[in-house]
Amino acid sequence: MVAHQAQELDMKGHTTEIKLFNTLSGKKEAFKPLRAGHVGMYHCGPTVYDDAHIGNLRSYVFADILRRTFEYNGYSIDQIVNITDVGHLTSDADEGEDKMTKALKRLGKPLTLDAMRETASVYEDHFKEDLVLLDIETPSAFPRASDHIKDDIELIHTLEKNGYAYKISRGVCFDTSKFGTYGKLGNIKLDSLKDGARVSTDPEKRNQTDFWLWKFDDNLGWDSPWGRGFPGWHIECSAMSRKYLGQPFDIHTGGIDHIPVHHNNEIAQSEAAYGVPLARYWIHNAFLTMNRSKMAKSAGGFVTLKTLVTNDLSPLAYRYWLLTGHYRSPMDFSYEAIKAAQNAYKRLQEAMAGYPEGGKVDAGFVGRFKALINDDLDTPKALALAWELIKDAGVDDADKRATLLDFDRVFGLKLGSLPCPTDEVIPDNVRALADEREQARQAKDWKKADKLRGEIERLGYELRDAAGGAAIKKKV
Ligand code: AMP
Ligand code: ZN
Repeated sequence: MVAHQAQELDMKGHTTEIKLFNTLSGKKEAFKPLRAGHVGMYHCGPTVYDDAHIGNLRSYVFADILRRTFEYNGYSIDQIVNITDVGHLTSDADEGEDKMTKALKRLGKPLTLDAMRETASVYEDHFKEDLVLLDIETPSAFPRASDHIKDDIELIHTLEKNGYAYKISRGVCFDTSKFGTYGKLGNIKLDSLKDGARVSTDPEKRNQTDFWLWKFDDNLGWDSPWGRGFPGWHIECSAMSRKYLGQPFDIHTGGIDHIPVHHNNEIAQSEAAYGVPLARYWIHNAFLTMNRSKMAKSAGGFVTLKTLVTNDLSPLAYRYWLLTGHYRSPMDFSYEAIKAAQNAYKRLQEAMAGYPEGGKVDAGFVGRFKALINDDLDTPKALALAWELIKDAGVDDADKRATLLDFDRVFGLKLGSLPCPTDEVIPDNVRALADEREQARQAKDWKKADKLRGEIERLGYELRDAAGGAAIKKKV
């Protein structure tokens, strides 16, 4: 049985069809992979000139749910998240300064490629730490733009040969008028990309929508057949996605801000160069907003994962909160909203900690879960189903645990672990005593274990033994 056939059922009679909303067609479609049982995905990665904010991270939680859904359905995956460490201009509209150059100035560092790489690797490490904290599975590769300059140059060469590229004083441009379906992703009205929305200040450009393939820079950059400088931001994604996944590949994702310009430009370049589509499914997450406006670094007042932790909110509580909304619906951030999600998440963990091991998955609930998650990743309804299961008196506790652990293969909420330290305001000394007691318990030193339990209780906490260890709770 292969996973890609529409309406196919697995051994338990559950549907294996995955439906996804494809921005390219403007419709929900049944997913058909290029290679049976396998999916190749490319997610536009962060520009590492600063720490990611939790709006950026929404994109990668969404990408992780997508990946986990495929894995849940038995697919193998190739997943690429690029690291933009050069070439992204301060305005997405393709003008302004290179963001990395701006970061070097902000940090008082010399304008050299070495300093740029060093700065980028600091923020790249922070980004990867954030992914781990959010229980995002590690992608197959994180290619860096600065390691792929040769691939960019080769792609620009091909575009030049095919008559799509032209050189002007400030760099090499893509001629959008030559690409008949320019703007097809999301049906972009080209007039809306002109003045204001998409400022093209260079009078030498043939069309206002033309964009940089290579931008000259005398101070910083790489040598190229056209002159010293650096690649355009869009060309990096076209070159790296093709290199790691082939062309066409299955799925390309990003936030909705990338639809009008970045993703339409990627499509134009890649298709003009090689005559085949770049990706078959284009899937976009809605914004995380704050006071109803897009959370953005340029707007100021953005929140990072660290900010959440300093406010006693755990990264996984943020993940839980994201799952309560659909990836295509905007979500408005507030500390109160995450706090409420953290309370619900704690109750879920506590329920889990009270269930014994040794059960089996409940086929009825698993079938319903799969149908929800395969329907364009309906995480809000899938989470509601988890709560329905917890309240269902007809399902045995051990089976509840097994079924919730099965759901957690997609949720990624670490439901098999004890409440994580950042979730609980449990003092370090209480936690240390509990660890010591756990060791005593494992060594079957019951006397010592009981003594330590007594000490913990005197400090106002109690232990609830469960599979995999004991949960610590404040006494009420
Ligand atoms: P950047 O580092 O700006 O290239 O963005 C990295 C990813 O975050 C891209 O997929 C963006 O579309 C996405 N993104 C940026 N801001 C937000 C936001 N407020 N909410 C959701 N996704 C966002
Ligand atoms: Zn991209």
